[in-house]
Amino acid sequence: MAAAIIDGRRIAEEIRGELKESVRALKAQGVTPGLAVVLVGDDPASRSYVAGKEKACAEVGIHSFDNRLPASATQEELMGLVRKLNGDDRVHGILVQLPLPRGLNEAEVLLAIDPDKDVDGFHPINAGRMMLGQKAFLPCTPHGVLQLLRRSGVRLSGLHVVVIGRSNIVGKPLANMLIQKSELANATVTVCHTGTRDLAGFTRQADVVVAAAGRPNTLTADMIREGAVVIDVGVNRVEDATKKSGFRLVGDVDFQRVSEKASMITPVPGGVGPMTIAMLLYNTVEAAKTRCRAMRGGEGVAP
Ligand code: NAD
Repeated sequence: MAAAIIDGRRIAEEIRGELKESVRALKAQGVTPGLAVVLVGDDPASRSYVAGKEKACAEVGIHSFDNRLPASATQEELMGLVRKLNGDDRVHGILVQLPLPRGLNEAEVLLAIDPDKDVDGFHPINAGRMMLGQKAFLPCTPHGVLQLLRRSGVRLSGLHVVVIGRSNIVGKPLANMLIQKSELANATVTVCHTGTRDLAGFTRQADVVVAAAGRPNTLTADMIREGAVVIDVGVNRVEDATKKSGFRLVGDVDFQRVSEKASMITPVPGGVGPMTIAMLLYNTVEAAKTRCRAMRGGEGVAP
């Protein structure tokens, strides 16, 4: 039987609807959530990601502050901008679009962002808080994966989840979130990567497989068991002469065949992608809520 499609666009819209309500309530208390976006250089893909994020902000009522630096900007100029944004009370979240042009030190820039404005969740303080099960800004893509599963009725507690990929932005934080003893997670987790021998031997044991390898056809139908849930994080360009652009986007999963065997599956595009932006907006609103509580004399706790 064909798998049910997990519709990331619909679920992201549902989350944006909830956020609109929160933004309205914050504005009524005199706080407009603000996201500062920093774009260095003119990489077309980065420009288009930034445009998408700013458009999504406007849609839910978040004010976005556009900060552009030329590709020739120095490390000191970029650090100066981050420090300025750290001190700007209108800015609740700071997003530095990655990758930075060559010659700029990414790790140093991410470390300079105030952890309480780190809405990407890449600061080591947030990574540490997350690992310890404390309140933290969760990285947007893996948090989006958890929300997709939860809002599709998949209760992860006790399930075996196999994550393919161990990057700092997807695989590692996702595995960390999945093992937390929390309502969203409490799963048994296996992390596979390029050092894994017999990938299929692991994926065949999984109730849920999350593919985040960045390689088409990493997960094929023979690698899953009947009825598994499959989440495809991958976004890969493959040549396609029938398209005007000359390429099309595919995930890491052989969607056609895997969807004949899985019980639920995310498409690419339209699966995890829209959730990443939705969770960025969520983190920004959470940061603004924290500020609002602090202004009203409540505790300035991390969201
Ligand atoms: P990455 O290249 O940093 O990491 C890929 C990981 O996959 C590595 O840890 C590697 O060990 C593992 N891997 C690669 N090939 C493998 C194989 N054959 N078997 C087992 N493990 C293998 O990539 P990333 O930044 O984590 O992104 C992964 C994919 O997800 C990419 O296609 C990226 O474009 C996509 N992505 C999508 C979103 C989104 O919002 N939809 C966000 C982030 C990343």
